[in-house]
Amino acid sequence: MLDETREEIEILRRTLSRFVTEEVIPLEREHRLPGDVAPPAELRRKVRMRSRELGLYAADMPRDAGGPGLTLSERVVLDMEALSHDTVFFEDLMGGPGGPSSILLACNERQRERYLRPLVAGEVTTCFALSEPEAGSDATGLRLRAEKKGGGYVLSGTKNIITNAVQCDFAMVFAVTDEQRGARGGITCFLVDKGTPGFSVGRSHTCMGFSGFQGELVFERCEVPAEAILGQEGFGLALALDWINTNRIKIGAMAAGIARRLLAASASHARLRRQFGRAIGENQGIQWKLADMATELFAVESMVARAAEMWDHARDVRKEAAMVKLFASEMVNRAAYEAIQIHGGSGCLLETGLERVYRMVRVYTIVEGTSEIQRMGIARKVLAQHAA
Ligand SMILES: Cc1cc2nc3c(=O)[nH]c(=O)nc-3n(C[C@H](O)[C@H](O)[C@H](O)COP(=O)(O)OP(=O)(O)OC[C@H]3O[C@@H](n4cnc5c(N)ncnc54)[C@H](O)[C@@H]3O)c2cc1C
Repeated sequence: MLDETREEIEILRRTLSRFVTEEVIPLEREHRLPGDVAPPAELRRKVRMRSRELGLYAADMPRDAGGPGLTLSERVVLDMEALSHDTVFFEDLMGGPGGPSSILLACNERQRERYLRPLVAGEVTTCFALSEPEAGSDATGLRLRAEKKGGGYVLSGTKNIITNAVQCDFAMVFAVTDEQRGARGGITCFLVDKGTPGFSVGRSHTCMGFSGFQGELVFERCEVPAEAILGQEGFGLALALDWINTNRIKIGAMAAGIARRLLAASASHARLRRQFGRAIGENQGIQWKLADMATELFAVESMVARAAEMWDHARDVRKEAAMVKLFASEMVNRAAYEAIQIHGGSGCLLETGLERVYRMVRVYTIVEGTSEIQRMGIARKVLAQHAA
């Protein structure tokens, strides 16, 4: 079970809570930042660097990569805390898609110094560029090609809906290096610096709940050396699929954090709002909504804790990580729906912040594999486990 009582994690959790309420939210107010538009890069950097100073940023990165070396079980406690606060810097508190992730542990020594260490230090950011206009759920349909030329490669193609595409300092780009092999050894991950000739940022997307966070990357005969390969040629998809499990668990933790604040706001409103001469929370119809929200939240917290613990013990978590992602992403959407219902008309107004959360959580059932794709993976495992 999740060991939230462990003193050092509890201290870190409280440090994070104070950091957000006493420094991050005041910074957001000082600069009058809207809650759903990516903040300027220099402010995001400031938040990351301070988070790093407090021992929070990239908390689960190992010590030999310059990180604090927490386990995933410990990290998810902090993810839940981070997202239980309403701040537009949510990606920068712990290190989201633009921050360091276990996929980069495949860096060689030179890449560690050049990319991983500055990333763990919060000095630079990256992006995970897999999706393309023609390839989303089915990564085997990638069209971005990396052709061998001399000692290096030439990248041509487009990536889209990539988080942190606009502000990244370098991108992790998945490209086809062997068409015959395709998904079975034909996809390679390249580390490509912003500013490399032929590499540019295309459109910045206005996405549901997240303007300016996602964008396009365009590669027009972009030449990179063979040293740009992360891991080995042909092993890109294997790296991505391994890493995606931890990310799905982290998304579960983030969904739980958001649901905590939705539940708190709903319970508080249910006690204070009076209609027909009594608090609306005295009606069974409202109580059942709160009870269901609390029950589903507890289920997700428990699932996240169990899956993270399994990961920490090097168990195969492919099925469980998919279950966490599926249930948590759908749970937080139900919670956002009910929170607005409990708030009535005021829940639809900008000032309660709920309509923004409602929009923001919608993408949770899409990113890191849609709900359908999670179900597909879970069902495959279940059928295999029960094969005659
Ligand atoms: C906010 C946001 C951030 C993102 N960030 C990143 C990022 O940083 N990096 C990155 O690489 N990508 C990113 N993406 C892209 C995301 O990973 C894809 O959108 C997602 O994988 C789904 O792909 P698609 O949009 O092409 O949908 P499609 O694959 O076209 O799917 C459309 C619909 O068909 C369903 N479907 C597809 N195949 C099947 C099947 N076999 N059985 C049943 N149903 C099926 C899907 O579930 C979905 O409902 C992001 C997307 C969003 C919205």
